[in-house]
Amino acid sequence: MTRFAKVAVVGGGPAGLQAALTLGRMHVDTVVFDDGRARNSTSARMHNVLGWDGTDPARLRAAARNELQRYPWVRVVDDAVRGARRETDIELDTADGPWHAENLLIAAGVEDALLPIPGITELWGDLVLPCPYCHGHEHAEGPIAVISSGAHATHVGALLLGLTDEVPHFEPGEVASVARVNDRALITRHDGRASEVAAVFIPPNPRPRSSVAADLGVHVEADGIVVDALGRTNKPGVWAAGDVARRLDPRIPAAVVTAMASGLTAAADIAATVAPPPRER
Ligand SMILES: Cc1cc2nc3c(=O)[nH]c(=O)nc-3n(C[C@H](O)[C@H](O)[C@H](O)COP(=O)(O)OP(=O)(O)OC[C@H]3O[C@@H](n4cnc5c(N)ncnc54)[C@H](O)[C@@H]3O)c2cc1C
Repeated sequence: MTRFAKVAVVGGGPAGLQAALTLGRMHVDTVVFDDGRARNSTSARMHNVLGWDGTDPARLRAAARNELQRYPWVRVVDDAVRGARRETDIELDTADGPWHAENLLIAAGVEDALLPIPGITELWGDLVLPCPYCHGHEHAEGPIAVISSGAHATHVGALLLGLTDEVPHFEPGEVASVARVNDRALITRHDGRASEVAAVFIPPNPRPRSSVAADLGVHVEADGIVVDALGRTNKPGVWAAGDVARRLDPRIPAAVVTAMASGLTAAADIAATVAPPPRER
């Protein structure tokens, strides 16, 4: 069975859900697809989100879905979009069959290619972290380690020195493992020396999570889908928002609030695009 929507949103994280709220409030027929792999799902607490500081990020998503039920034009489908192709409209391939949409917002987030150091994946979002604004303050008793190289190490190290006096730096190649010891992280070097720290910051190395942009020939660079200030891509009828979209300035943090802001911005532009023409007087 083929189903239709005026707007399809791939991704039900902060960017996609905020976009759906804006579209719902403008009575735009919208479907959101989500396959339940939110980027911050390994963190028990989310920070630096006004009104939600220190809460489980899953609570924000659940509350957002609840709010969307007020808008019957918005459907949320718990299914992965496996691919896309342009026909007269845009066809999305899901496990439950094809969907057709006139417009598409890609809000599918990113996945992080973590440093290949034993223990890093297990502690990701817990004691191994990407973002000082999100989880630096909680570990200000220090020391806070940075395992990174080059400009990233300099930038994150300087930010963390605003929170704590001791910010030891490790090159990725010198670290043999990271492990949890009680509430702290133990960094062991290849030469056997070990350091106990409050937390570890590493570069996240994000990569787009969904193939949908590539399927449709959307312009994608290493740091994300190329968009203008409204979230428009190079393809008519296709927008992108949230972590998957390249930020207009790399210093803008990839975070829940910025994802929501870009989702709102793209949705407002989509709503203006699909609005009926003015009535004749
Ligand atoms: C460990 C960690 C902790 C973080 N902590 C914080 C924090 O405390 N505060 C903060 O502000 N930011 C935090 N961030 C950053 C924050 O998680 C992201 O900036 C934010 O989630 C981006 O929202 P998004 O909607 O763009 O993407 P996501 O939240 O990743 O949502 C994308 C959604 O799209 C879905 N999806 C992907 N592909 C498909 C597909 N093909 N079909 C259907 N669905 C699909 C995914 O399942 C996912 O649910 C953290 C990041 C990490 C890695």
